[in-house]
Amino acid sequence: MEIIQQNIEKLKLKIKHAAAKSGRSPEDIHIVAVTKTIPPETIQAAVDRGIKILGENRVQEAQQKVGLVKGDISWHMIGHLQKNKVKYAVKLFSMIQSVDSYELAAEIDKRAGMLGKVMDVLIQVNIGREKTKFGAEYEEIPELIKKVSTLAHVKVRGLMAIAPFKEDPEDVRPFFRKMRELFTKIKSQELENVEMSFLSMGMTHDFHIAIEEGSNMIRIGTGIFGPRG
Ligand SMILES: *Cc1c(COP(=O)(O)O)cnc(C)c1O
Repeated sequence: MEIIQQNIEKLKLKIKHAAAKSGRSPEDIHIVAVTKTIPPETIQAAVDRGIKILGENRVQEAQQKVGLVKGDISWHMIGHLQKNKVKYAVKLFSMIQSVDSYELAAEIDKRAGMLGKVMDVLIQVNIGREKTKFGAEYEEIPELIKKVSTLAHVKVRGLMAIAPFKEDPEDVRPFFRKMRELFTKIKSQELENVEMSFLSMGMTHDFHIAIEEGSNMIRIGTGIFGPRG
């Protein structure tokens, strides 16, 4: 588990540099440790070394892990969420980062309402217009957020995106910049029941660029836990 400690230290150093480049402090950048395929003992090692937010892609995998990791942590759903899994997701997660349709948001609203809770969500944008990726289209986002903002048990807290993979992470900079523009635009509208706090973008390969372009929430798997088996 020594390696996890080292990885986290390296990660924090890189965050510090990237944050400085965008005139921010490293404390403004939230790290989501992405735990897909990672066993609870290994996740626990990262939590014991200061990780506070864990990201899972699948409801079923989260169900097996959430109770086994101890500490002052919250779990975020970062993968595609099927409507029939929402009833479990609202119990397991403190944030759902992958909301990409009104129908999904409405189901979250219904299920969160039954628990008497308000679910924090991010709206996922398909920034690269990739057919293989989930997320709502860029142009649809303002309307979608307006609609979702009418739901009493859902609160929009920001945007999430998975940038297209490019060998040279410099090439994803324009996508991150577009996300930042959209984020700023929606934030300036000051919609009721919308609190634009988080811009979730950047993974192991490209998070430094994402931070330079305004990300304040990065989702790191490999960079903390090493290559997935
Ligand atoms: C797997 C995953 C990540 C982390 O990817 P790494 O390249 O291992 O850092 C981030 N976000 C989402 C949505 C993922 O599925």
